[in-house]
Amino acid sequence: MPQPTRCGECMACREVEQTKKMVMPNPPFSHASNDSVRVWNTTLAENPCGTWDPETVSNYRLAFDKLSEDIRPRPCDCEAPGAFFTSGVPGIVAHLDDGKLAPDATVERCDMCRRYATDAAALKALQAHLLEQV
Ligand SMILES: [Zn+2]
Ligand SMILES: [Zn+2]
Repeated sequence: MPQPTRCGECMACREVEQTKKMVMPNPPFSHASNDSVRVWNTTLAENPCGTWDPETVSNYRLAFDKLSEDIRPRPCDCEAPGAFFTSGVPGIVAHLDDGKLAPDATVERCDMCRRYATDAAALKALQAHLLEQV
């Protein structure tokens, strides 16, 4: 996965460096279990560099969703099944009625996982998703 360059100095980058020492004592981790790869991916996904713009963070975060099930980062709160504001699309917080978006519904990006750069980008992605399902 191509990754944007980290500054190495912000809080998020330091967190990533700390975790790297724990999960990757001997890089490259060719013998790592799926569990440690998942921990690592979760740490990366939850700690985008503080110097990146929202667009970069969004692309970075969405790329993790393409990983195979067993090493994908642990699900964010917005993905919890049955949660009132789960839109069915990871990273988007919206309340749907019978799978439809009410005209006055509020659609927001999830600020935890930051899969979308803005609320507007989240709305666009959700609309595209709903169209696909028809
Ligand atoms: Zn950084
Ligand atoms: Zn989220």
